[in-house]
Amino acid sequence: MADVAGKQRVTVLGGGAGGLELAVGLSRRHDLDVTLVDRVSTHLWKPRLHEFAAGTVNSSLAEMSFYTLAGMHGFRFEQGDVETIDRAAKTIRLAEMRDANDHFVTTGRSLAYDACVVALGGLTATFDTEGVAEHAIRLDEKSDAEEFRDLFIAMMIHARVSREPAHVVIVGSGATGTELAAHLRLSEQAFAHERGSDEMRPLLKLTILEAAPQLMPGADDGLRKSVSDRLDQLDIVVRTNAAVDRVGASEIRIKTGEVFPADVTVWAAGLTGHPRLKQLADFEIDKKGRIVVDDRLRSSIDPAIFVIGDAASFTPEGAEAPLPPTAQCASQQADYLVSALPELLAGGTPKPFVYNDRGRLLSLGGAGSVGLVGFLRKNDFLVEGRFATAAYHGLQRRHQWSVLGPLRGSVAILADMISPTAGPALKLHG
Ligand SMILES: Cc1cc2nc3c(=O)[nH]c(=O)nc-3n(C[C@H](O)[C@H](O)[C@H](O)COP(=O)(O)OP(=O)(O)OC[C@H]3O[C@@H](n4cnc5c(N)ncnc54)[C@H](O)[C@@H]3O)c2cc1C
Repeated sequence: MADVAGKQRVTVLGGGAGGLELAVGLSRRHDLDVTLVDRVSTHLWKPRLHEFAAGTVNSSLAEMSFYTLAGMHGFRFEQGDVETIDRAAKTIRLAEMRDANDHFVTTGRSLAYDACVVALGGLTATFDTEGVAEHAIRLDEKSDAEEFRDLFIAMMIHARVSREPAHVVIVGSGATGTELAAHLRLSEQAFAHERGSDEMRPLLKLTILEAAPQLMPGADDGLRKSVSDRLDQLDIVVRTNAAVDRVGASEIRIKTGEVFPADVTVWAAGLTGHPRLKQLADFEIDKKGRIVVDDRLRSSIDPAIFVIGDAASFTPEGAEAPLPPTAQCASQQADYLVSALPELLAGGTPKPFVYNDRGRLLSLGGAGSVGLVGFLRKNDFLVEGRFATAAYHGLQRRHQWSVLGPLRGSVAILADMISPTAGPALKLHG
C-alpha cells in the first residue's frame, strides 16, 4: 500500500528528542511521505527542562515550531493527541480537539500509514505514593517547569522578606534530581539580600531524599564520589535509605516516620513509559510500561510498528536490562531508523541496531566539571574540566544541527552560547 503519489506513508508519533530527528531524517528521502504527529505545536528539548524550572536557562529551551520545521524539511505536521492504533486497518486515531478555552476545534481524525513509529516518550513514575499527584511537581512537560518556577520565585521572595529559609525537597537522586538541586543553588544567588555580606543568611535549604542505600543508584563509584563531594560543596543535604511514605502540602514523611519540611516537593524518582502506550494497541509492555521491540526496533507484535526513545524497551543481546531512557539513546535509535526503516519497507534486511554508550557527563559550573566517558568503547574513565562541559553540550548541539541543518543550527548554537543565562551548574546525563 502507498499514497496517491506512490510513496510509502511513514507516520512518526511524538516529536521529541527521537521523533523529530527521525522525521527530519526520513523527509530527505523522496520515496517516502512523512507525517509527524504531536499533541503540542512546538518541539521541546527535554534535557534542559530542569534548568528552565530553576531559571538557569531562559524559556527558549531550544523550542522550535513543528509547523515551521515541517515547511523547512518537507514533512507534514499533524497536531493532535494520539489515542489508539488500529493495527488491522493500519490507521492511527487522533482524539477530538479542543482549544485552550475548551472550545471545539475538530472531531477525532484517522491517519493511514504503511509504517508507524511510536516516539511518545515517558513520564516520571509515582510508584503510587500517596500525595505525589496532589502535592509534588514532576518535571515532564514545559507547563510543569513553569509551575515550579513560579512557585520557586514566590517562595524565594517570601524567604528574602521573612528571613526564614525556604525548603525544597527533591525525591530521587538520579540525574534529574541531582542536577535540579545544583541549579537551584545557583538561582538562589539572584535573590541574595546583601551580596558579599558576611551576614548573608541562606535563603534556601535543599534536601535530596533517596530510597536506595547510595546516591545515584547504578552509577560508577568514582562518579558517585565526585557528585557527592560537589553536592556537599553546594550545601545540598542528601539522605539515603529514605523511601517516601507520603507527600503532604508542606512536609514529606519517609517510611521510618521521619518528617521533612517541604515548601515545594519535586518528584524525580525514575521514569516509566507514557501511560498512553498501554492503551494504543495490544503491545507487549515491559514492567516499566514501555513497548518491547526487537533488534530492528520493531514492536514485538507488529513489524509495521516501530518504537524508539523512552517509549521503547530494547534489551541488547547479552544484556540483563533494557537500555536506559535517555536522549542519547533516542537520538541513536532515530539515526538508525533513518536508514533501516526504508530498507525494511523495500524488503531488505538492515543490520541490527547497536547502542554506543557515549558516557555520562556533568557540568558543575562554579564547582568544576566532571564526567564519565567510554574510551574506545572499553573502560569508562573520569574526565574533568572543560572537556566534560564541552562534551555535555555536544548532545544538544548535535540535536540542533540534525534538526536545523548546519547554517541555522550554528546560529541557534551561537545564540545559546551568548545567552546571559547559559551554563548549567551541574549536568549529569550522557
Ligand atoms: C529534566 C530532564 C533532564 C534530562 N537530561 C538528559 C540528558 O542530559 N541527557 C540525556 O541523554 N537525556 C536526558 N533526559 C532524558 C531525555 O529527555 C529523554 O530520554 C528523551 O527526551 C526521550 O526522547 P523521546 O523522543 O523518547 O521522548 P520525548 O522527548 O519525551 O518526546 C515525546 C513527544 O511525544 C509527544 N506526545 C506525548 N504524548 C502524546 C500523545 N498522546 N499524542 C501526541 N503526542 C504526544 C510529546 O509532546 C513530546 O513532544 C532528561 C530528562 C529530563 C526530564
